[in-house]
Amino acid sequence: MSTKNVYFFGNKAAEGNGKMRDLLGGKGANLAEMNLIGIPVPPGFTITTEICNAYFQVGKDKVVDMIRNEVESAMKRVEDAVNGPKFGDNKNPLLVSVRSGARASMPGMMDTILNLGLNDDAVETLAAKSGNPRFAWDSYRRFIQMYGDVVLGMKPENKESEDPFEVIIHQVKKNKGVVSDTELEASDLKELVVQFKAAVKQNTGKDFPITAWEQLWGAIMAVFDSWMNDRAILYRKLNKIPADWGTAVNVQAMVFGNMSNTSATGVAFTRDAATGEDIFNGEYLINAQGEDVVAGIRTPQQITLEGSRRWAAMQNISEDDRKAKYPSLEETMPEAFAELNNIQELLENHNHDMQDIEFTIQEGKVWLLQTRNGKRTGAAMVRIANEMLKQGMIDEKTALLRIEPQKLDELLHPVFDPKAIKAAKVVAKGLPASPGAASGQIVFFADEAEEWAEKRHHVILVRIETSPEDLRGMHVAQGILTARGGMTSHAAVVARGMGKCCVSGAGEINIDYKARTIEMRGKTYKEGDWISLNGSTGEVYEGKVNTVDALVSGDFADVMVLADKYTKMDVRTNADTPNDARVARGFGAKGIGLCRTEHMFFEGDRIKAMREMILSKTEKGRRVALQKLLPMQRSDFEGIFEAMDGYGVTIRLLDPPLHEFVPHQLATQKELADDMGLTLDEVVAACHSLEEFNPMLGHRGCRLGNTYPEITEMQARAIIEAAINMQDKGIEVHPEIMVPLVGVVEELKLQAKIINETAEAVFKERGKRIAYKIGTMIEVPRAAVTAGRIAEIAEFFSFGTNDLTQMTYGYSRDDAGKFLKIYQDLGILKNDPFEVLDQEGVGGLMKQAVTAGRQTKPELKVGICGEHGGEPSSVEFCHTLGMNYVSCSPYRVPIARIAAAQAAVK
Ligand code: ADP
Ligand code: MG
Ligand code: MG
Repeated sequence: MSTKNVYFFGNKAAEGNGKMRDLLGGKGANLAEMNLIGIPVPPGFTITTEICNAYFQVGKDKVVDMIRNEVESAMKRVEDAVNGPKFGDNKNPLLVSVRSGARASMPGMMDTILNLGLNDDAVETLAAKSGNPRFAWDSYRRFIQMYGDVVLGMKPENKESEDPFEVIIHQVKKNKGVVSDTELEASDLKELVVQFKAAVKQNTGKDFPITAWEQLWGAIMAVFDSWMNDRAILYRKLNKIPADWGTAVNVQAMVFGNMSNTSATGVAFTRDAATGEDIFNGEYLINAQGEDVVAGIRTPQQITLEGSRRWAAMQNISEDDRKAKYPSLEETMPEAFAELNNIQELLENHNHDMQDIEFTIQEGKVWLLQTRNGKRTGAAMVRIANEMLKQGMIDEKTALLRIEPQKLDELLHPVFDPKAIKAAKVVAKGLPASPGAASGQIVFFADEAEEWAEKRHHVILVRIETSPEDLRGMHVAQGILTARGGMTSHAAVVARGMGKCCVSGAGEINIDYKARTIEMRGKTYKEGDWISLNGSTGEVYEGKVNTVDALVSGDFADVMVLADKYTKMDVRTNADTPNDARVARGFGAKGIGLCRTEHMFFEGDRIKAMREMILSKTEKGRRVALQKLLPMQRSDFEGIFEAMDGYGVTIRLLDPPLHEFVPHQLATQKELADDMGLTLDEVVAACHSLEEFNPMLGHRGCRLGNTYPEITEMQARAIIEAAINMQDKGIEVHPEIMVPLVGVVEELKLQAKIINETAEAVFKERGKRIAYKIGTMIEVPRAAVTAGRIAEIAEFFSFGTNDLTQMTYGYSRDDAGKFLKIYQDLGILKNDPFEVLDQEGVGGLMKQAVTAGRQTKPELKVGICGEHGGEPSSVEFCHTLGMNYVSCSPYRVPIARIAAAQAAVK
């Protein structure tokens, strides 16, 4: 633990700096750094994340003892920096904010308190000094409300039951006959304060704390506590942020955006967080404080004139109306705007990344309160990385590392079919807050979104505005539609972070939570009705609009080219059909790592021939049925070879237990009996005889091919014949025949013998040869341990990490769901090992197998074809093992390509 626990910043100097995120949190580190590069920031100090951890270990009293002296002397330095006001001096009060700030940004998840230091006396001074009593009382009532909610625990647990302070505000407004907070005068706000304090007394049994220091310590501890609130815990879980990081606390002199009409507060991005366009943009409100802009209480205005015009066009607001009611900052405060514009440019150049900034203008003077690397959509991530590379702001490796592989998923999701869009009925228009195409059934409440989603409904969460409590509901929804709030609203920011389609600020829609209806362009829609959202245009359509596959083009394609330049591993795909193979090739797959032949047997009439084969009691009977299957298999393989012209195609021989193919219902069993000329009893008995106690460990994989060699024979023939046929057509074929579930080298030896003999027979018949390879899956622990022997026969290994994980842990994939979640909560497992490769255990076996295999056969080709082949951290691990390729489902190919390139760059 450091001996220094509190870091001062102010007046363009700082004890910390931008590199100290771990200790000072992102906010604190950046506040320090902004001072160091000469940006105006109100002075303050940061209490380290280590103190947060200490707080949870030793408790409040001990922690206060640990840092009291440091905090008091830091506060003196802040007083010196503001030159005049003193903390706790009612004659000349220094007011501060107490702000959370973790290592990773967690927008809105933890708590912040503004205007701390006010009491009945200080507020009078503030009113007199500023000559603006309304401002003073507004600040005071906000402070009591925030403090009451956060520190005194008066915020309602259940969001549907109302905040006691909001109830009072509502009543006072009603009595006065006004709708907006801004219509309340100083005397009304004074009345609010009286009632707020009474509510505090009633709720907590105590008076509102009047001394600044008591207020401060309470607030600091509450910010620490907010690290463990439900929202923050959920956010960390969704974003894999460890609980032991802790939050720092920033105490900072207040500046006031609510002081006058030459004051304002706002949020801005140095580039467009939705599309990535290189354009400064953001929103502000005159005479407002803190979260007003993002809370969606008043309609925020745009910062730049250009942005303002675009915004008005989207909202169908005329230029005259725009100028009169929603002018841009560029128009209302040109000087402040010019300064802000310089600062944003400086910040982006300094950080080499898109910045998300918070600022306040007090009586014309610009102050920066926060900067961070902005959250962005997958599309924006790709565009910004590529454009910054072209602009020379970052180098190629940095550009590659800027791509979060998982986020590419958003770009691979289907998009609306342009034809279907033309025909769709537009029922509302809002702001294109987060791109995407979403269709679902309307729900109005986050908890209901969860319930519906659990029943596998697709839902669109429709809210007047969202708050951090809605996080879970947003997470499960296909898309989010809000009536209020701009591009920087909570809904918009969180949706972009999640890569979720969002249309915000659709002011024309009318939501009635009680009736659970939404009125759009004169028509009423109920809960459960289908709508579609276009997050790129802000349009809302009636019903479900059809979608088509996305394409890899533009910036996305550029980034992929870059990935291929650095990668050391190929990315193949798992594909069972020519169509999947084509899709994957479009996404850049270089071959097929796993073609599962069994899926081919389920289509149409094929299953009949398959069942006939399975239920035959004699080899002869089986051969008759296999003869029917041969042409079907061959034509499938032909299609796949054609789609993968020039690349390797790994085809796995029949793998699943035969019981999966036979009919389980009486009616189908009867039909089968008739087809095969058997009695129903015979068929039922035959099906029954295939039942196994533990099919996953039963008669499957190469155990089938070794007990029924004629199956392997047919499949090998289909592969070799298809390859020859395609080669005759001018297609370059590289068949790789893969034997599943080998545990003992003899199993592979026998299978290889059958395959080779079959191939020779075909070559003889056709009078020509082709090259082919025989290899095996490594998915039984015994195979991994004896890989040196197996490599004597195998020309390639492909790790089947699904089975290998299953057998290494002894967890049945189909049953582990019951305890895996609990195991993660208990900390027994860090991840679900079926999702994220267990590098220590399963990975240990893999490492051993690669080493031993290559000792026997240095040119041994090694790949992976389990689900893990598309999971970034697992891909990185495969790189470190020196694998030749990873293979994953078609839609994960670009993700794996980036992950592989990043592994090489790192
Ligand atoms: P969050 O992490 O949720 O964004 P912040 O700590 O950034 O919370 O604060 C919430 C709001 O209050 C922001 O809009 C911020 O700009 C504003 N704010 C925080 N501290 C001050 C301050 N000292 N003066 C003026 N505004 C402040
Ligand atoms: Mg903030
Ligand atoms: Mg397997």
